[in-house]
Amino acid sequence: MKVKCPECSEQIEVDKNEVDENDTVECPECGQESTVKIKNGKIKLASQKEKYFEEGIGDYSDE
Ligand SMILES: [Zn+2]
Repeated sequence: MKVKCPECSEQIEVDKNEVDENDTVECPECGQESTVKIKNGKIKLASQKEKYFEEGIGDYSDE
């Protein structure tokens, strides 16, 4: 499926079966890395520039 780059709005092809929540995808167009967010089975990309994770610190689980 295709997801929109939050930086340049390029449509990036992403395989739903190959990405997980919080994976990083690099946009081939602008080179910006974005974080995968999955909601209701749909993939979205969140810009890492927005410090999306700040609230989640401490929630890091290490297997
Ligand atoms: Zn881009």
